[in-house]
Amino acid sequence: MLVFKFGGASVKSAEAVKNIGEVLKRYPDEQIAIVISAMGKTTNALEVITDHYFHRRKKELTKCFSDLKKYHLDIMDELFPNPTHDAHRGIRSLFEEMEARLGKPHTMNYDFDYDQIVSYGELLSTTIVSGWLMEAGIKNRWIDIRRYLKSDNTYREAKVDWELSSRLIRQAFHFKDTRLYITQGFLASTINDMTTTLGREGSDFTAAILAHILKADSVTIWKDVPGVLNADPKWFDDTVKLEKISYLDAIELAYYGATVIHPKTIKPLQNRNINLYVKSFLEPDTEGTLVANLNYEKLIPSFIFKMDQVLIRISPKDFSFIAEDNLEKIFGYLSGYGIKINLMQNSAVSFHICTNNDKRKVRSLIDDLEKDFRVSYETGLELITIRYFDQSTIDRVMINKDLLLEQRFKQNIQLVVRDRG
Ligand code: ASP
Ligand code: MG
Repeated sequence: MLVFKFGGASVKSAEAVKNIGEVLKRYPDEQIAIVISAMGKTTNALEVITDHYFHRRKKELTKCFSDLKKYHLDIMDELFPNPTHDAHRGIRSLFEEMEARLGKPHTMNYDFDYDQIVSYGELLSTTIVSGWLMEAGIKNRWIDIRRYLKSDNTYREAKVDWELSSRLIRQAFHFKDTRLYITQGFLASTINDMTTTLGREGSDFTAAILAHILKADSVTIWKDVPGVLNADPKWFDDTVKLEKISYLDAIELAYYGATVIHPKTIKPLQNRNINLYVKSFLEPDTEGTLVANLNYEKLIPSFIFKMDQVLIRISPKDFSFIAEDNLEKIFGYLSGYGIKINLMQNSAVSFHICTNNDKRKVRSLIDDLEKDFRVSYETGLELITIRYFDQSTIDRVMINKDLLLEQRFKQNIQLVVRDRG
């Protein structure tokens, strides 16, 4: 069997939904579990809705909710012009449920409420796609993944209960009376059936979980790009598509911030040696990128750019060295504020951290650090990572930049730079 994952862009409009049918027609006999994200930018919109709801901004909440509803209903009207078509009922009742929830007071637990609300994105998208495929004569079964994918209660970053989920998922996806299942990415639920989510962009991970548990032959992530590129086309005109990359390269690229594949996706596949294809849903007949257990000679450099970075320099006030006790304190603050280190480096008397400039968190961190350390920092920086670098690739990205800090580790180089403007 195969696992397909369709992301937000592949279901952002009625035309896009129809296109999924076109892609599936290329696989008339295969057994496929299809994992789908929320439509377009729906998850972002639901995050805003959650925020208005939690802070009781009634007017804004009503406006955002009705915008989101209109977006989905417009797509429905295009797909099912007949207003009495059965498909409308499911969507209407999801919106009613959602409205009822938004009318109730919040629970004081932001992350809990977030998951209960944001999860509607995937419930809506999968209901729409499943209905459309039926309409197009492609029989399928809609599955509420929350009944089978079980997690702990870390809302917004739920940890999967692999043992229980394996048992339940194998029972649910038996392929006895259907060859196509449609289900939600990103969602799970606790043992008490409270909805959880697996972290932003978590649908790739869902696809990997299903593939691992069901021992799939392969996973295909359908995207609006032709495959894994060696840089974000936002930064370079002449990006190249990587024909194939190893699991390790995929993990490294995702870890350093390449956004094509979610970092958690690879491990469950690698453990079972399951091939991953990244392909374009716009050109389904062209080869995408294969991620697998591979060795290759020709190493194509890949570039990852992170903007809006802050570089923090920390040194003990008493001129002591940077040692274990200092580091313990620094890391304590970092983990307390949930600050992700993009790069760190130490010398005898100072310690450097490069991180995303999340202003609120960084401000609190610096206030705390200043109790014990001398702290200076610079914002507005860029962090450039090159995998398989050589001097010419460094020269290329350093044009018009000042180098503040550099770190080399095996095949990777990371450069913290300031743009000369
Ligand atoms: N819809 C969720 C998000 O945007 C999950 C996903 O797309 O992978 O984060
Ligand atoms: Mg999404």
